[in-house]
Amino acid sequence: MSTFVQEIMETAKMTSALRVLVVEDEPDIAALIAYQLTREGFRVETAGSGPEALDAVGREVPDLVVLDRMLPGLSGDEVLVRLKSEPATMNVPVLLLTAKREQEDRIEGLELGADDYLTKPFSPRELVLRAQAILRRVHEAGTTEGGRILRAGPIRLHVESHRTSLDGEELTLTPTEFRLLQALMERRGRTQSRTQLLEKAWSVESGVSDRIRTRTVDMHVRRLRSKLGPVGEWIQTVRGFGYRLKVPEGLE
Ligand code: CA
Repeated sequence: MSTFVQEIMETAKMTSALRVLVVEDEPDIAALIAYQLTREGFRVETAGSGPEALDAVGREVPDLVVLDRMLPGLSGDEVLVRLKSEPATMNVPVLLLTAKREQEDRIEGLELGADDYLTKPFSPRELVLRAQAILRRVHEAGTTEGGRILRAGPIRLHVESHRTSLDGEELTLTPTEFRLLQALMERRGRTQSRTQLLEKAWSVESGVSDRIRTRTVDMHVRRLRSKLGPVGEWIQTVRGFGYRLKVPEGLE
């Protein structure tokens, strides 16, 4: 793995490689870009059309999108606009590939929210350097939403930036509520005891009586539920044991 990816991963305490989504309908170009990025240690996924790109992003938010402007289905510009309008993806950096040489088109792409652009034809090496420069910039600015985003239905939890949103609306959670929600989302579907939740969301205090432990966890779960509105019901009480986050089928 390249020093670049390793360095970013270490400082961001990331456990998996930086992920790049390459959106390009010309298979040869897509393969070439993917090959070069993989060699540099990136985890690469490719999409051959606009809708495919949005599907891929919906499954897992990448750390960077390399986006061709001329695509079937939805144009690159339209994909860009959608990415920038969704809270979960608005901070994902985008490197735009453009075949047009006109200055105007380049500026248009940047105005739509792209972080940089590259005019075709370009060398794969140049693309890697640009990608690294963008990621370094984003990383240094500390605004990266990369790393991990947990999602459950309309809930998005950005692990690194400690932000949570519900249906795109920012949720204001206390640090404890945030960690509690994170613990529930990380083990969704599985029941966790109050002790397990305490260990995750609070620094464990030994000597805490069962009664206080129960009261503390229960109180925070109650507050978290009310902040989540109707979705709060997804945090289920498992009598005599603890809690679990149960996402209704079809809303995953
Ligand atoms: Ca194209």
